[in-house]
Parts: sequence; C-alpha cells; structure tokens
Amino acid sequence: MSEIDKARQSVLSRITKALQLAGRSSEACQLLAVSKTFPADSIRTCYALGQRAFGENYVHELVEKATQLTDLPLIEWHFIGPLQSNKTRVIAKTAHWVHSVDRLKIAQRLSEQRPAELGLLNICVQVNVSGEASKSGCLPEEAVPLAHAAAVLPNLRLRGLMCIPEPTQDQARLVGQFASLRMLQTQLRQEGLVLDTLSMGMSADLEVAIAEGANIVRVGTALFGARH
Ligand SMILES: *Cc1c(COP(=O)(O)O)cnc(C)c1O
Repeated sequence: MSEIDKARQSVLSRITKALQLAGRSSEACQLLAVSKTFPADSIRTCYALGQRAFGENYVHELVEKATQLTDLPLIEWHFIGPLQSNKTRVIAKTAHWVHSVDRLKIAQRLSEQRPAELGLLNICVQVNVSGEASKSGCLPEEAVPLAHAAAVLPNLRLRGLMCIPEPTQDQARLVGQFASLRMLQTQLRQEGLVLDTLSMGMSADLEVAIAEGANIVRVGTALFGARH
C-alpha cells in the first residue's frame, strides 16, 4: 500500500467512525481532498484510489492542475480559497463547486460567466463564524440575505454553507463555531431554501465537525502530508 493509500484509508475510517458515533448515515459526509501545493501527480495517484473530489485554494493552481488532468473524466474540482472578482470567469469555467462565495457580486459574476453547457455551478456561502477580523467569509447576519439572493441566480445551485473556525485548542469554542453554522443552515431551511451541505472540518477537527453535521470535510495535511 502506498503512503497516500494508507493516509486516505485512515481518513476515511476517521470519517466513518465519526458518522457512527453521531448516529448519522455512512454516506452523510464526503471527503474533499485538499491538494493545494501538491503536484498533479499526487492528485492522479489519489484519483486512481477512487478519490474524485479535489479542493484548491489558488486560482492559477486549480487551472494549471485541471489542464494537466483533463484525461480524468470523473474528477470534480472544488474551489475553496478567497475569490476576487477579476478571477471569477476562469473559476466559472473550470470548477464544479465554489465553497468560498462571500458577497453577492462574486455570486452574480459566477452565474453570468458560467458556460451553459457545464450545467449549474454548485456554491456554498462562506461564513466567518469566529468573528476574527482577518478571516474571509461574510458575517452571519450578512449570510442570510446573501444566501437568498444567490439561491435565485440562474446558473448557480446554492448547496449550503462553509466555514473555517478559528484555530483553537478550546474544544467548546470549536463546537460552538461549527454549531453556529448548522443553526444558520436550519434558519435558512425554515425560510424555504433547500440546502444539503455544510462544508466544515479539516485534518485536525473533522470528528468535531461531523458530530455537528458536516457533509463535506476538507482534508489536506492528513492525506498528502505537511505543505512546504
Ligand atoms: C488548506 C485548507 C484546508 C485543509 O487543511 P488541512 O489542515 O491541511 O487539512 C481546508 N480548507 C481550507 C479552506 C483550506 O484552505
């Protein structure tokens, strides 16, 4: 077994155990392999093991790797990094998902620029659940009008919410931040939006996120090793 195979099996078993502990279905949470800074070859190896969804943070890196891997028919590209409006066009053409929509202008541009033949672009609204000034994502109170406005854009499919909690050893704080994203999803559902995705949890805290309802965990280090 290769290193990456071992690492992926170990992450998948962490996900399965966390789902069991939470009394959730074994299908309820998928693994997004965060391949930022790792070469296309690492993605190829991981794809050969059955991994389909890959996450990238930087626009040029996603485009470069997508170009190198056009022979992998089932690959699914998730853009998870900060997105500036002058970069939306290339993302609208390349990505299957964008997790980091944090203002209406970005959502509008992605919808306008999405090529019709690619079908709807899946998006999540990124919410700053920790309130740290340096964090990307909109404020929780901005997320409600943004989600409603994004939900009616013609070429997007609003799937849910995404967050990156503050780095902390304080378990209760972490739980609280994941839970606040889930409660925001509950509120938006009560207001009529159909949301099936909470994108939350990374290498260090995926169990906590799954206990709080994560449907996609975004895992880099635990799969590919430390980034340089
Ligand atoms: C890098 C990154 C991850 C992966 O983090 P790890 O701790 O390496 O698992 C997940 N989500 C986002 C938004 C990231 O930028």
